[in-house]
Order: sequence, then C-alpha cells, then structure tokens
Amino acid sequence: MIKKGTALLLAALMLLSAAALGEEEDGDLEIEEIIEEVVLDDEGGEHPLSEQNAPAAASGEFIPSYGSAYAPRPGERNYWTLPMDITDEQAVWEMLMQPITVVDIGKKSGEKSQTYLYREPDEESLKIGVVTCESQGVRVLETLDSGWSLVECYSSSFHDTKVEAWNLLVSGYIRTDYLKQVTPNPSMGIVCDKLTQRLYIFQNGKLLTSLLCSTGVAMWNGSKYQPYNETRSGEFLLMSKVGTLVSDRLYCDMAIRFNSGDMMHEVPHVKNADGTKNYGTTEFKLGTKCSHGCIRVQRNRTPEGVNMGWIWSQLKSGSKVKFVIWEDWQGRQIPVPAADTPLYYNPNKGQYYHRSSFCYSAKQVTFQPFEYGQLEEEPFAKLKACPFCTPVRREGEIAEINERYAAGGDHDELLTSLREGYYEYLNQ
Ligand SMILES: [Zn+2]
Repeated sequence: MIKKGTALLLAALMLLSAAALGEEEDGDLEIEEIIEEVVLDDEGGEHPLSEQNAPAAASGEFIPSYGSAYAPRPGERNYWTLPMDITDEQAVWEMLMQPITVVDIGKKSGEKSQTYLYREPDEESLKIGVVTCESQGVRVLETLDSGWSLVECYSSSFHDTKVEAWNLLVSGYIRTDYLKQVTPNPSMGIVCDKLTQRLYIFQNGKLLTSLLCSTGVAMWNGSKYQPYNETRSGEFLLMSKVGTLVSDRLYCDMAIRFNSGDMMHEVPHVKNADGTKNYGTTEFKLGTKCSHGCIRVQRNRTPEGVNMGWIWSQLKSGSKVKFVIWEDWQGRQIPVPAADTPLYYNPNKGQYYHRSSFCYSAKQVTFQPFEYGQLEEEPFAKLKACPFCTPVRREGEIAEINERYAAGGDHDELLTSLREGYYEYLNQ
C-alpha cells in the first residue's frame, strides 16, 4: 500500500527538516518554499486516502462520513449522514438538536482525557484511533453481545498521542458501557465549515448569522512539521469556558474547550507596549486556515450583533451546545452566489462591500444597494469584503478555493504525506 515514491519524499522532507535546524532566522521561508516544490514534484498517484474515499460523491452531496466503509443505514439521519449544505436550515437544525453519543470512561473521565478505539473488540488489539471523553461524539455502527461496540469518528490525535491518525475518519471498537447519549442544548447550535472557514450560528431553528474563522493548518514551525495542527473534524459539545490562553505572546481571549486541546476563542492579539491589544498580525488572516488547531473567531460584530464575545456570553457552564465541524473533503466546492444577490456599499469613499444595509463598521452610514453581478464593475471592483458583516466572496476567490479542492486533487499534500506513517503502523 505504501508507495516507494512516498517513502523517498518523506526521506527528502526529513533531510530538509534537518537542514532547517541549522538555519538562521530568515531561513525558514526558503526551506518552506523548497518543501513545497518537493511535495508538488511527487507524481501525485493514488495514496491511501484516495483509496479510502473510493465512492465518488457529487459535489454538494458530501457527508461527514464520506469514504467510510459503512454506508448510511436506512433511516440513519445524524451528523455523520447529513449532506454538508448550510442552506438547508431545517435539516441542519434537526441535526444540531439530535442526541449525541459520547464516551464516559468513569471517574477518570473528563473533557481533557482521551481513550482509544481498537481494531478488534479486545484491549490487547491494535489501537487505531483516539477519542476525547465527554465532549466528542461517535457514530455507533454495531453493538455486539460481547459488551463491545463498533464506532466511527475522526481520530482526536494530538501531538503527544501514540496513534498518529491526524484528523482521519476511523472506525474501531470500544466498550459499550463507555458510551452514553447526551441531549444537547435545545436553543442553540454551531457549525464550523473548514471549507468556507466560516462559523454558522443557529438559534431557535434559524441560521442567525455567520462569522469569519480560522481553523488549523498542518505546517512547518521552523523546527518540525505539525500535522496535528489540522483541526479535528466531528461532532462535539462545547464544554467549559476556559478564559484567556497565552501562547507564544499571543493572547487568545474567551477560549471554550470542545475537544481536549482544541478550543474556540477570539482571534488572538499581542500586547502593545502600552498594554493595548493589537490584532494586526492575525485578524487579516480570518477566513483562511492558519491556527495551531484551535478555532479563531472574529471580534467584529455582524449586523445581528454576534461576535466571539456574544458566543461567550450566551454560553453558561454545562449548557451543552452542540458544535459540529465539517470536513473539507477534496471534491467539495463553494457555490458561486446568484448574480442578483444584494450587496451594499457607501458611495462616499467607502472601502468595503457589505452584505447588509446596516453594518457595525459604519453604524451612522446608510449604504446603497447593488448586486453581486456588478461586483467586478466600477466603482465596486476596488471594494474589499467587509470584515464585520462577512459578505460572500468574489467569484475569483471562490474559483481559487474550488480549484484547490477540485475532485481528484489534494488540497493538503503535506498533511497527506505526513499521514503515511499511520498507514505503515496499521500494516504491522
Ligand atoms: Zn459590513
């Protein structure tokens, strides 16, 4: 299963890693560029993931369990089987309100602790995946008389876990008495789509608003690769309000834990010399992958008054809001909005286009309407997307993303190559 070309590629990457350790500060970028070339030079043949994802799905029909060996059973309607279509408000809401099956291993349990899925219904058999206790949902495939169940989920492998199944959909066995059903919060649910890099807030059956976010990206940090930075997809409960995290001079306010080390928090800031907050290095990246696994959320208010602070204030401890993350499967595409989609701008020196006639970026201004089909014409062509009201992307930007995610491609070749070790581990 493991191709020789891939092994050579890994060896080349390791050499480059070693070379980079001896580099001066500014060397990292060069090394990253070289690596990109090496990765792109790979012949791009089939890798285990494309085999796993064998059944071709039409764009728009992707489900979170895409590529699973276990097709949806008749009548199985849940997170795992629902097409990832945010415009189907009613279906998404029903999914967000459904009970979730989580893992409770007893007194050692807690939302930071994790346990394993096994290849056989036997704790001596190979560990094939990692699941986080209390907060992570699993899809129950089969319940055996022997006291074990076969379940499926995206493996919650982090940097320190032995099973290096980085955000891979895995199915394996767990003791049935570890599983329990939890009814989520009845008034609110949240969807994060890794393809669109948006957070969708649902309240009382309706899509209230969407926010810009940034999920994790597998990257080179100057001394090593970090495949575990890719945000783990799946179905979760928002568990505890952690507060401010400080990581490498970055302050992440209002962090809410949902999957062991993965949290949702405000877009990070650094502190200026006078103590004020500076978002200059992070905020402009919202809407693209760039975190170490956490989900960064915008602080600017949408026209509905929603931002990370609003989410924080809505959540009470133990409110069990369901939070689902949609995988950016290769082959998924972002639809281009209709030409008559209304947009707004300020004819008097406005620099943004907006999705709403009211926007917190300019509360006193009354905007003029125009249509999406005119966005590439003057005077609209020079307008930037408003960072408050999250209007739709320009057609060219959508095309760029869709090209990366086109069927048959690999939008994250680095992550794919770094997963090879796991397939070797499975072959033991
Ligand atoms: Zn706006």
